[in-house]
Amino acid sequence: DRRPVVIAIDAGHGGEDPGAIGPGRLYEKHVVLEIAKELQRLFNTTKGYKAELVRTGDYYVGLRQRRDIARKMQADLFVSVHADAFTNAKASGSSVYALSQRGATSASAAFLARTENDSDLVGGVSLSDKDDILAGVLTDLSMTASLDASLRIGSNVLSEMGQMSKLHSRRVEQAAFAVLKSPDIPSILVETGFISNPGEAKNLATNWYRAKMARAIFNGIDNHFKRSPPPDTYLAALKRGEIKPREYTISSGDTLSEIAARFDVTVTQLQRENKLAHTQIRVGQTLKIPES
Ligand SMILES: [Zn+2]
Repeated sequence: DRRPVVIAIDAGHGGEDPGAIGPGRLYEKHVVLEIAKELQRLFNTTKGYKAELVRTGDYYVGLRQRRDIARKMQADLFVSVHADAFTNAKASGSSVYALSQRGATSASAAFLARTENDSDLVGGVSLSDKDDILAGVLTDLSMTASLDASLRIGSNVLSEMGQMSKLHSRRVEQAAFAVLKSPDIPSILVETGFISNPGEAKNLATNWYRAKMARAIFNGIDNHFKRSPPPDTYLAALKRGEIKPREYTISSGDTLSEIAARFDVTVTQLQRENKLAHTQIRVGQTLKIPES
């Protein structure tokens, strides 16, 4: 069996570091953990992926340690989930960031990187690794390759998020985020909205919005890996046609739940695989059957 694409999902902050705090004492650390868990669920119910959480509960993990955990997982992608805050409550929109080898691509990207990097100060961990890793690997070609992938994955995620939320910036912004400094693992940081904006905080406090956000991030990442899977993975074999997905053509009287039972999958898996928003099906329609 070919290996799954491994996704390391990093919920920002945690423990003594609450991250941003929005109206109604909405804590970034709680919001992003919920989104991260939903994102993990989406990957782990999709054949070809395995997702693990960098932090699984309400405790602090140092920024460097987060990268180390992802490396231990042998992750193909590191995605750090956050929710912005800004002094101006009007600031709004979601955005995606990648590491910058030089300066920041905008003043707000630089501001955000500074705030997110401050995490380690709050979390009681010293910034001892400040720039040594970056300095050591800047010339490394693998760094360039993974940064390239980060930017491509980032724009896929952005375009999916743009369909369900306002975007703060239409391009993947770059700045010196400590948590993204893995030389060999493509890494992105997703800001799921401004927790300091009352309207967005309201959304981020609800399960349906978090689920929608997780779905958008999932779709963006999935679009990328379907198109460019690492060669030794199930997704690559699927793309090369070495593995054929099963199919079923609907005849009169079929229901989604019967078909699901017949192939030993769930209705939700069938819906997801076939992008069905409801349980209505029509005669002659061909369904892809996911691996059970
Ligand atoms: Zn954050």
